[in-house]
Amino acid sequence: MSTYDDGHRELRELLGSYASGHLPETEADRVRAHLDGCADCRAELDELRAVVRALGSVDVSSFTDPAPVPPGLGDGVRRAVAQARADHDADELGRRRAAADERRRRSRLRLVGAAAAVVVALGVGGAVGRATAPEPPQPPLEAISMEVGADQQVTVESADLVAHTWGVELRIVADGFAEGQTFQAAFRTDDGELVPAGEFIGVGPAPMTCFLQSAALRQDVTQVVVTGPGGRTVLSSDL
Ligand SMILES: [Zn+2]
Repeated sequence: MSTYDDGHRELRELLGSYASGHLPETEADRVRAHLDGCADCRAELDELRAVVRALGSVDVSSFTDPAPVPPGLGDGVRRAVAQARADHDADELGRRRAAADERRRRSRLRLVGAAAAVVVALGVGGAVGRATAPEPPQPPLEAISMEVGADQQVTVESADLVAHTWGVELRIVADGFAEGQTFQAAFRTDDGELVPAGEFIGVGPAPMTCFLQSAALRQDVTQVVVTGPGGRTVLSSDL
């Protein structure tokens, strides 16, 4: 916390007494010096002077010396100061919330705009050349051929590996995975370990695209296997 803040806080406590003329002259000088450089305190002082006028119909400017004041004025001023400070803090909170709301609203608008651009891109019938939405960067794909297990009805349209820095990914476009059944993908590493690459549920004859990611690195894997019900091998590829 800076000394400015400390001084501000301390001097702000004195504003009530200053406004009501209760402050010894040395303190009043410090307050006046601070007021020169602190718009917040000047604003608060204006409010306090209004409060003091309302409380006692006192002409604050007539207080050059500590003067007799109506009993209870000090407490009233302290309460008024506390209230003014609470109001000020509440206002500040309100302003911050409004600003945050505005930021959220703008980012929602940007999202809606981006979504609209995507819809427009899709709406032109997949004419990628006319798409206005930025395309995500495509990682290099390594096409692999997958062997379909005996008695399996799966047809593979494409299978690719993606060598991420964090692990290897299998991307397959295929159909014929038995509907409602669970399938597991895994990579075998060169030390024989089988590293899981996630699961998916078959959707029958409808073509499906799966991105199956593992924590094994591309250079360490020697095989990829997709198994189905009963642990049977549905797809495999030696890498
Ligand atoms: Zn101040």
